Amino acid sequence: MPIDFRSDTVTKPTEEMKRAMLEAEVGDDVYGEDPTVNRLEKLAAEILGKEAALFVTSGTQGNQLAVLTHCVNGDEVIMEADSHIFYSEGGAVAALAGVQTRTINGERGVITPEAIARAVRSRNIHFPRTRLLCMENTHNRAGGAVISPEQMKAAYEAAHSRGVAVHLDGARLFNAAVALKREISDFTRYADTVQVCLSKGLSAPIGSVLAGSRDFIEEARWWRKKLGGGMRQAGYIAAPGILALTEMVPRLEEDHHRAKRLAEGLRQLSLTVEPVETNIVLVHTERAGMNAVQFLEQLAERGVLAVDFDESLVRFTTHRHITDQDIQAALTAVEAILPA
Ligand SMILES: *Cc1c(COP(=O)(O)O)cnc(C)c1O
Repeated sequence: MPIDFRSDTVTKPTEEMKRAMLEAEVGDDVYGEDPTVNRLEKLAAEILGKEAALFVTSGTQGNQLAVLTHCVNGDEVIMEADSHIFYSEGGAVAALAGVQTRTINGERGVITPEAIARAVRSRNIHFPRTRLLCMENTHNRAGGAVISPEQMKAAYEAAHSRGVAVHLDGARLFNAAVALKREISDFTRYADTVQVCLSKGLSAPIGSVLAGSRDFIEEARWWRKKLGGGMRQAGYIAAPGILALTEMVPRLEEDHHRAKRLAEGLRQLSLTVEPVETNIVLVHTERAGMNAVQFLEQLAERGVLAVDFDESLVRFTTHRHITDQDIQAALTAVEAILPA
């Protein structure tokens, strides 16, 4: 079995999750009659500090429903230039919501309130309307960077004071909360809507949750149905999601420790590594005398998997199936492929 650092999405459900799936009480969720889905949505809304929540198939679907629900086509949406919504969702905000993106380069994922103020459109017959700001926390392409509640507050106020709503792509928001030892609601209070993934470090097999006001979620539910995301006895997949939220959050700290340990080891091998705040480690491969693809091929031959982020940047992600021994084995493999 290779040591798989490609993503925390590779985590498989726990034994307890599998039992919960078998035993789940289910009904037709399109009629609102699946008790397990209803329980997950209520629990998620409470944890995220919102009135209501919606179980969705993926993080991408949650983000897209948010943009569809917040905006009308032709609106402008501000987002960080390397954000998942812009970079990794197949152009869906253009294809589905028909919105125009206004990207801003952030500093480790953070867009300053000044940059937001400059980007929001004034009323002018020539201009689109700025409807939404999207934030991402932790920020994936910035290397799992954490945006503090204070930084979120500044961005939220810059947007809200100009009539712009805020959506938080919190695919790994629980990692941010654990890293800063803060409550999840310390972050979500600075967003009108939030999407969190259950299927990454939290180990559920499938799904995300979108949360917001009751009216917003009702409208998002309509969009979800329209996109073919109305699921029937979805309690079978919601049941492990409940355990993801109630049982799996504190252990994320272990993933963060192992990521730091991996980063230290890579630096000792003279590689340049981006600062590590959560479970993502970005390594530059130039000093190994290889591009990212070559680096990954060599590692794969030694049973270690990761992904390339650009020409000479590789991402390692720690998760529940990565042990201390795996960190050591990965470092040994990297050492073996470095030029003498
Ligand atoms: C993984 C991820 C998503 C999308 O989640 P999927 O379930 O893979 O669609 C969205 N945003 C960020 C920041 C992510 O890391």
